[in-house]
Amino acid sequence: MAITSPIAGTTRDRVYHETELGTYRAILVDTAGLNFEKNRDLEADIQEQAKIALEEAHVIFFVVDASEPMTANDFDCAKLLHKSKKHVILIANKIDVKKSADTIPELFELGLGEPVSISSIHNLGITELQDAAGKVLKKMKWKKERHKNKKTIDIAIVGKPNVGKSSLVNALLGKNRVVVSNIPGTTVDSIDTPFTFEGTDFVLIDTAGLRRRGKANKELIERLSVLRALQAISRSDVACLVLDFENGIANQDLHVSQYILDINRSLIIVVNKCDLMNDPDGQRKRFMAELQYKMGYVPWAPVIFVSALTKKNTRQIWELSKNIDQERKKKIPDAEFEIFTKTIAMSHPVIRSGKSIPITKGQQIDICPPSFMFWCSRPDKIHFSYKRFLENEIRRRYGFFGTPIKIRFSINDE
Ligand code: GDP
Repeated sequence: MAITSPIAGTTRDRVYHETELGTYRAILVDTAGLNFEKNRDLEADIQEQAKIALEEAHVIFFVVDASEPMTANDFDCAKLLHKSKKHVILIANKIDVKKSADTIPELFELGLGEPVSISSIHNLGITELQDAAGKVLKKMKWKKERHKNKKTIDIAIVGKPNVGKSSLVNALLGKNRVVVSNIPGTTVDSIDTPFTFEGTDFVLIDTAGLRRRGKANKELIERLSVLRALQAISRSDVACLVLDFENGIANQDLHVSQYILDINRSLIIVVNKCDLMNDPDGQRKRFMAELQYKMGYVPWAPVIFVSALTKKNTRQIWELSKNIDQERKKKIPDAEFEIFTKTIAMSHPVIRSGKSIPITKGQQIDICPPSFMFWCSRPDKIHFSYKRFLENEIRRRYGFFGTPIKIRFSINDE
């Protein structure tokens, strides 16, 4: 996945992915690993990694190398996991290596139950692992999908610590519900608040909430805030990515926006603290230029400049979310889309190595997000740029403002 991401600079340290485990959806978080043996001077750092894994995860995949005998480190980790009282799935990796047969019985001594045997590089045992995880989630009564026919528009407020998320939530809800502080990471756990605005029912999913942690440093808080953001985004229809105009756009914001795109949620970019602008026109222009440069992959996302402090423009979040929700649910009638396909796709065929690949049919096959299928003889030959061309044309004609759209190609029936 990391290799195929089209956005430069956001791949190397992206460690969060939405995935399927059995019949459940989950966010998979990769960590740097726990090591109690080496790097004594890095212990503090390692403990932070451990904290992230242990405190934030609902289920822990504890991967051991079965091609080698168990080490003291493995036992130390197992002890830590025991103490965490989390659901742990013990995974014996590298079972393609012969020696592993001797190690497997030893693994029971870790006290974490029966290991699931896999070979990552040979793709062995992965289905079994997914099933095992599915069973654990079932036992935990993990909620399956957000139910499809829900009537509310669910909005997640996400962004780096201190950009003003709590203040914005307060401005939106009109009461001082969330504790605001200028010390990053000092608000309470994330809360869902139902709210009705001009007859429309919303749920505000507030990720400002990070519990105060005694020794938690800035980096830990930022990492945790990403995780919380991703969890909230997964539960939302529309994600508001809050930026502080004074601090610009950080890599973390790019990761979060990429995630929003990956899982097809709608996006509003909310630039906060505009009351502090001394040259509003110039500063806005410069911010827009930075946005275009760094986040040009979401040109459909509306950008609003607000002040949580003075509440200026904050009600636009409700209004935009309502409009976006309608766009997410919009369905172009088949007959109409056929005409569009005829005029656009058929008159601009894909050309590959001098040959044209005619598009024979197009149809909107789904909503939330709007998804389109185009039929042709060689779907495998279609270049990314042609997909972008179609997306631009669809948006020019039909809008789909604020929402990602999906385009796929299928082989002609005959
Ligand atoms: P969070 O960590 O993203 O939830 O941020 P907070 O809402 O706790 O705000 C962090 C700091 O920024 C606090 O000192 C707020 O008073 C300040 N702040 C938040 N929004 C605004 C705003 O619109 N204008 C100004 N001037 N300050 C703000």
